[in-house]
Parts: sequence; C-alpha cells; structure tokens
Amino acid sequence: MTATMIESILIANRGEIALRIHRACREMGIHTVAVHSTADAEAMHVRLADESVCIGPPPARDSYLNVPAIIAAAEITGTDAIHPGYGFLSENARFAEIVEEHGFTFIGPSADHIRMMGDKIAAKGTFRDLGIPVVPGSDGPVEDEGAALATAREMGFPVMIKATAGGGGKGMKRVDSAEQLAEALSIARGEAMASFGSDEVYVEKFLTHPRHIEVQILADTHGGVIHLGERDCSLQRRHQKILEETPSPALNPEEREQICRLVTSAIAQLGYRGAGTIEFLYEDGAFHFIEMNTRLQVEHPISEMVSGVDIVREQIRIAAGLELAYRQEDITLSGHAIECRINAEHPETFAAAPGRVRDYHPPGGLRVRVDSALYAGYRVPAHYDSLISKLIVLGANRNECLMRLRRALEEYVIEGIQTTIPLHRRLIAEPDFVNGDYDIHWLENWIEGTT
Ligand code: ADP
Repeated sequence: MTATMIESILIANRGEIALRIHRACREMGIHTVAVHSTADAEAMHVRLADESVCIGPPPARDSYLNVPAIIAAAEITGTDAIHPGYGFLSENARFAEIVEEHGFTFIGPSADHIRMMGDKIAAKGTFRDLGIPVVPGSDGPVEDEGAALATAREMGFPVMIKATAGGGGKGMKRVDSAEQLAEALSIARGEAMASFGSDEVYVEKFLTHPRHIEVQILADTHGGVIHLGERDCSLQRRHQKILEETPSPALNPEEREQICRLVTSAIAQLGYRGAGTIEFLYEDGAFHFIEMNTRLQVEHPISEMVSGVDIVREQIRIAAGLELAYRQEDITLSGHAIECRINAEHPETFAAAPGRVRDYHPPGGLRVRVDSALYAGYRVPAHYDSLISKLIVLGANRNECLMRLRRALEEYVIEGIQTTIPLHRRLIAEPDFVNGDYDIHWLENWIEGTT
C-alpha cells in the first residue's frame, strides 16, 4: 500500500476524545475540522479546531450519527481523512465504507474487520480458530428458549445472555436458574432490539469472579503488529468501566507475556489494520476471550503513559499507509498508570447531573494528565454520555501511582455540577483496591455496601 498524504482530518466526535485527536493532529502539523451539534456550539473541541461545521440539532442521531451531514462537512472543508473517535460511528462498518466510497481515508480498520468483530459470535469463532481461548457458550445465536435452556443445562447455571450486536453493557442478563430463563431471554432480546436493532442473543457461562483484562494492539499495513501490554478494567458498574490500571495487579510477567504474544500473533494472522483491543475475562489463571473493539478505547491513555507511544498518532500513520514507528523490541513498559473516569453524575445515586460548570481547576504536576473538554462557564449538555474528564496518573510503581492519584483527586475542583470525583476519592482508599484485590463484581458490591 502506498502512503496517502493526510493534511487535514475531520474529527467525527465531541468532548474529550475530539480534543485528544485534535492534539495529536496539531503535533503532526495536520489541519483539523470539528463537527458539532447546536448544543455544542461553545464546546472546547469546536473552539480549538482550525475549522468547524455544525451538523445538526442536539440529539446524536441528528448530528454525531448523521452520516450525510458528516460526509457533506468533509466535502465542504476538503478534508483528507475522518477519525471517528470512540462511540458514535466508530464501530459502524457501513460508515467506514461510505467514508472510503467518498474518497476519504477512514482512520480505523477495514469495514470487513469492523463488521466481523461487531458480530460477537463471529468474533468468538474467529479468535477460537486462531488459537485463543474463549468463554464457553453457545457456538451460535440461540433460536428459542429450548435451545437456550439446553446450552445452559450443559454448562450449568449461572449463565449470561448476551446480544450478538452488543456494546456498552446493554442487552446482557445473568440467569441463575431454569425458572428465570424465559423472562431474562425476553428482557435481553428487548434491550438488544432497542439498542442495536437486532434481537439476536447467545448464551455464555457466567463467570463468578473474573477480572477484565484487555490487550492493546497496533497493526500497520506492512505486517507490523505490536502490543502495549494489558489493562485491568475490572472496576465496573453496570458493565461500564469506572477506573482502569496497567499493569494488572493480578498477572505475573509470564502470564502477561503469554497473552500479549498470543494476541499479537492472532492479529497478525487476521491481517488487521489499526488500533484494537482484545478483551478477556481472566479467572483462576485462565484467559477467556469475550470481544474485540476495533477502535480507540476510552482508557487508551494508561497504555500511552507506560509505553510512551502516542496511539492516535500511530492510528493516523497507519491510515496514511506508513509503517508503525515502533517494533515490539522498541517498546518498554515502565511504571504503573491509573485512569479515573469522571462523570457528571451524583457520586452516590449516579443520577445524571448536566449543568453549568461554575469553577474549574484541574490537577497538574509531574506525570499527571487530564483529558477533558471542560472549562469554567461551560455548560455540560444533557444529550450525551456523562463522561466529562479522565484523570490519568503515572507512578514508578503502583504505590507511587496511588499516592499521586490521591493527591491529584484532592486537587481537582469542578464546581457547579455533581461529579464522581468523591466516589474515586473513597474508592482508592479502600483496602481491597489498595491491595489490588478485586474482580468485575467487586465495585457494585462495594457501592451497595457503602451508600
Ligand atoms: P460490551 O460489549 O457490552 O461492553 P462485553 O462482552 O465486553 O460487553 O462485556 C462487558 C462486561 O460484562 C465485562 O467486562 C464483564 O464485566 C461482564 N461480562 C461479560 N461477559 C460475562 C460473562 N460471561 N460472565 C461474567 N461477566 C461477564
């Protein structure tokens, strides 16, 4: 593949991730085009971009998901490439095709790979064939209650019903007994239909005490594949990540090396292009693949902190047909990094808390990174995801990282709206967390017990 000149990028997203992409472009001398809804006219991503285009009214389906408006914005501004960020259109294979059909470069994997991984059953089959262990479950979708029951009986309860087209923790239901199955199946199907437009579901063994461990990879179009180690994202509420760290306190160096090597080899065999994350549940020393995300992840900065690699820069280089700037042997993972996701939500009830930010003072200092589009006077709109900031810190080791995180959380001032900063302050003081002793169910139990 020959190198394509990328001189201008349209960022088809908003909030902190639009800023994150803008920053990488700026440092590469690339012109940026922001798109925004009418609710975001005053947003920081619009203010900082070289150009901006309003693409519709506040609801995401009319603006950030409005493909014709985004393509028109790219045409009007004469951009070369489109970066989808995460969420919105980032895992929409048809969007990737449309972008390319209009002569723009899609900064991401091929539409075929997006489609393949968007079907979670197909993804499991693909990785199983590549020698990766997967969570036991139905090999295909379950047609009806009888089929679901047969699979569940074979594996033993509890089981998990999951949407084939799932994402964001939606369309997922735990089932403890045969009596609960029919109702759970119909709820999961309903949720899947409402969220993804498909009610196809499958059954998996429900793991009772796993950790969520994922591997970050980057692959170019010249056969180069590297990994940036793993992230532990076990601290979740309603299957949504709250705090992530790398390296995982649960893995020893041999396990880390083994899973990262296995993943890198599978990705090379797939001929995948771009950044990607392969997610596993890890229980009793064994890894079980659950899904692959074919995009930049919210928690990518912790991998950047320990590796020194700018993942967005590499995404752009890959899309331009260049070789990765690194080989595996160039990568040294050093220190420990943690990210806290800060949401505009009540820290105990988790009720959404949009509104005007009266005062704003982010923490700073050595090895502290804040990815946020907030500023004093900004009004957090009610229409979008509640994530308003990511606080990321690096320490020479986990203990130093925790001390620095505590200090940074103490410094962080967001006045005028409720945020989850108090939740993080309490969380990082918990002995189980300090000891690294937690699984994917720990956080919800802790929240229930302390609020
Ligand atoms: P989504 O695409 O909606 O994020 P995932 O398949 O990535 O769904 O799963 C999200 C989270 O749900 C996991 O990190 C884990 O906490 C939980 N989960 C998924 N599958 C299982 C399972 N088989 N057993 C127990 N928990 C699960």
